[in-house]
Amino acid sequence: MGVFETIGTDVHESVHFGQDPASGLKAIVAIHSTVLGPSLGGTRFYPYPDEQAALTDVLRLSQAMTYKAAAAGLAQGGGKAVIIGDPAQLRSDELFRAYGRFINGLAGCYITAEDVGTTVADMEIVATETSFVSGLPVAVGGSGDPSPATAHGVAASMRAVSNYLWGTNDVNGRRVAIKGVGKVGMELARMLASEGVELVVADVNGGATDAASAAFGAKVVSIEEIHGIECDFFSPCALGGDLNSATIPQMSCAAVVGSANNQLALEGDADRLAERGILYAPDFVVNAGGIINIAAEADGYSVEKADRMVDSIYDTLSKVLRTSDNLGISTDDAARHVAEARIAEATRLGDQS
Ligand code: NAD
Repeated sequence: MGVFETIGTDVHESVHFGQDPASGLKAIVAIHSTVLGPSLGGTRFYPYPDEQAALTDVLRLSQAMTYKAAAAGLAQGGGKAVIIGDPAQLRSDELFRAYGRFINGLAGCYITAEDVGTTVADMEIVATETSFVSGLPVAVGGSGDPSPATAHGVAASMRAVSNYLWGTNDVNGRRVAIKGVGKVGMELARMLASEGVELVVADVNGGATDAASAAFGAKVVSIEEIHGIECDFFSPCALGGDLNSATIPQMSCAAVVGSANNQLALEGDADRLAERGILYAPDFVVNAGGIINIAAEADGYSVEKADRMVDSIYDTLSKVLRTSDNLGISTDDAARHVAEARIAEATRLGDQS
């Protein structure tokens, strides 16, 4: 398939290709939308099987960033970058410096950050060549690891769902099953345990579940069992695609509220959850704490300021749930509706000025 055919006619604003043969850099930046502000999204460093797969991924990921930023009410657009190759073999200071020069050439239309395969340390090297990079360590004026803010947003989302379903923000005594107790899942477990929540956890990493059990009294189950646990909230905090035709029939929760990206394997899975009476809190609304944390870098970062901004996810999700009811559409479609309405409004105001 040709590049323009892959990009399509009515979506991404631009796609940029950068290379540096000396370091082996091959990178693609996709800018989906700058209607609400400069596009922002992380750099994924991944051994794609071919260039077409890398292009398809960066297009999909950058579009998702537009929706995430728009739904979160940020003055940011959606963009994403991929570096093609195995980071374990290709990673070097030269490569990240060349990448920084490539990003700098985009003159601020795209601001990068870390993502799968890249680290805060990599971004510090990128920052030697460009100022269009975020998520740097707090010590150098950045916002650091976004995971605690992301967990904070998931907890705020659970309170919003609790209020919608049961008329109270209090989650004390609720039962939450967390799949994946990594950076976000473990922090979420800590927050929920301090609010009197009963925890059930599963992870492929036995060390992580042991730690959650020792620290928070979490019950440990296998990754095969976790979807079927009877609970108030099932919280996918591992990989994408966890809500699918195999897991949805097993599920025994009131609501799904987790941090993982792309939780629905197929679009229709949102309707399948609704048919089973399970409320799905859309992933890109729930897990926006990470980009909100980056937005908190503007005019000086502090954890307190970032947490206050992340608390807005409660209102955003409540609005999405009301929109779903009012329009009789799935919560996933309602979240897109809220994001698209904001972009359309900004476009309309831009046309008038
Ligand atoms: P992480 O790598 O620190 O943690 C993921 C955990 O999931 C690990 O403990 C891993 O062992 C476990 N895991 C992997 N495969 C599993 C499986 N099949 N079954 C059970 N457990 C499995 O990642 P993270 O930063 O905590 O992110 C978790 C999810 O949230 C990811 O999908 C990520 O894309 C998404 N997310 C994270 C952030 C953030 O700020 N870190 C922001 C937005 C979205």
